[in-house]
Order: sequence, then structure tokens, then C-alpha cells
Amino acid sequence: MAESARLSAATSVVGVMGDPVTHSLSPLLHNTAFAELGVDWVSVGFPVAAGAAGAALDGARALGIRGLSVTMPHKDDVAGRVDHLSALAGRLGAVNCVVDEDGSWRGENTDGVGFVDALRHRDGFDPRDRSCLVVGAGGAARAVIAALADAGAGAVIVVNRSPDRGLAAAVLAGASGRTGRSEDATHCDLVVNATPLGMVGQAGASWPVDPVLLHGGQIVVDLVYHPMVTPWLAAARSRGASVANGLGMLVHQAAFQVAAWTGHDPPVGAMWRAVADR
Ligand code: NAP
Repeated sequence: MAESARLSAATSVVGVMGDPVTHSLSPLLHNTAFAELGVDWVSVGFPVAAGAAGAALDGARALGIRGLSVTMPHKDDVAGRVDHLSALAGRLGAVNCVVDEDGSWRGENTDGVGFVDALRHRDGFDPRDRSCLVVGAGGAARAVIAALADAGAGAVIVVNRSPDRGLAAAVLAGASGRTGRSEDATHCDLVVNATPLGMVGQAGASWPVDPVLLHGGQIVVDLVYHPMVTPWLAAARSRGASVANGLGMLVHQAAFQVAAWTGHDPPVGAMWRAVADR
């Protein structure tokens, strides 16, 4: 049956709000999961300009929207506008998922748990007692830093262009967190790029970590997935490291959103195939 043929006045609507949003893979991931689960839900894109998150949330509530995936530039703004926050979303001060609870809206953050879930189940890496280095201190980095600490990482070392933001991000990892230097990467089991360096359009950008510091026995993850293999990831692979791009975080954070909205176990395999086959 065509997707549009199953939609009706009773269909539960969710969407991804952000700017830009038209290229987002989130509706594809959500709709693949809904179809696989056989539930009457649909996910669409909601382009919402910076500063308009409050109006968008009011409108969504009035329209009976069942949930929202929240992306740039609204994650911090939405954290201050939902009815209550999960402990993790409160700690991060950022929401990437709004869940309707009988008319009350709960803000969650599934980015970091999605990252760790992909690491464990896709890449076979458990962060427990391992040394991890994260480059960046923005929204994505902060989610990853907190999640690695929550997963029992032995050390979470943060390297960031702006030292103050790096320190604030390292604090999220509690006793296992500290700031460091790129050179620390050579002693780490996991090295993560959580900056836009290497993304399409970042002409002339430098390396997140000099590839000469990377080697076999490490897993190197670039949260960027456009391109699928960044020059840095290719260099890390040629140095013998195992590598993964940002699709794992994208797919698994969307899977947690589907679970939060519908209460069903998400069909992660089908969601992976949807982005791989596109
Ligand atoms: P953000 O909040 O704007 O943070 C950007 C971070 O990158 C900051 O720490 C910033 O350092 C650093 N940075 C930016 N340009 C830099 C440069 N030229 N040299 C060194 N550091 C630089 O962005 P974000 O939302 O965290 O996103 C970061 C990356 O993760 C983006 O590429 C995004 O596409 C990707 N991402 C992927 C997923 C996924 O599911 N795979 C999810 C979210 C984000 P300062 O603190 O010094 O400014």
C-alpha cells in the first residue's frame, strides 16, 4: 500500500523541527519504523526559523501533534519550554525529542544514548572502563561526553577550540571527565570528532586530531556523515584504526525517539537499511 493511502484523520503525527530541515533523514527513519511496526503514525519535516520554537510548540500542541524530533537551532530553546525534562535533558540543557504525555510535554535527549547504542551494537565497542577522547564541546559533543561517562568510561578527555566551553563540557562527565590535548588521542581507545571539521562545505578545514596520532586497536568515530567517509576518517582507517561515521548516532537516536513516542521496540535493522539503501 502506498504510504499516503494508509494516512487518515486518525493518524498520529510527529515531525522534525529545525532549520534547515528539508534534507533531514529523520522522517525517513521514523516512517520506516512506523511501517515496520504497523502503527498508524507519520513523521514529517517542520521548517522552524531560529527564535520561533515557542510559537511552533504552541502550534504543535494546539494541533495535537504527538511528538517532535528537535534539531538545530532549537535544542536549547525547547529545553526551556516543555512541561518537564528527563534528568539527562536537564543536565544537558538540550532537548532533541518532545514526547506527549496526555497533554503534558516531556523533553528528552536521545543523542548520546543513540551514540553509545550504535557503538555497542553496530561497532562492537563497549565504553566501560575505556579511555575516550572527544573533540568539540557543542551540543553533539556534550551529549556524547555525558553518555560515555554514564556508560562507565574510565576517562572522557575533551579537546576543544574554545577552552572555556571545553571545560564546561568535561564537567558533564563528572569524575571521569577532564580537558586535554590532541596528543592524548594516541593513548585512547575511542576518538570522536564532534565538530563540523571535514563536513561538506568546510573547505580547507584542518584535522580534528592529526592522523599520525591514530593507530590500530582504536575506534575512531566522526559524527559527520556528509560525506559518508570524511578525509579524516579515511586517514584514520589508513593508519589501521576501526572507523565509523555519524550514521550510527543518527539511526540509534531516532530509534530511541520511536520507542519514546510509540512505546514499541524500534526496528533498528530496518531503520539502518532505509538509510543505507537511499
Ligand atoms: P555546535 O553546537 O555548533 O558545536 C560545534 C563544535 O565544533 C564546537 O565545539 C566548536 O568549537 C567546534 N568547531 C567548530 N568549527 C571548528 C573549527 N573550524 N575548528 C575547531 N573546532 C571547531 O555543533 P553540534 O550541533 O555539536 O554539531 C557538531 C557536529 O556534529 C556537526 O558536524 C554535526 O553535523 C554533527 N552532528 C551529528 C549528529 C549525528 O546524529 N551523527 C548529531 C548532531 C550533530 P568552539 O566551542 O570553539 O566554537
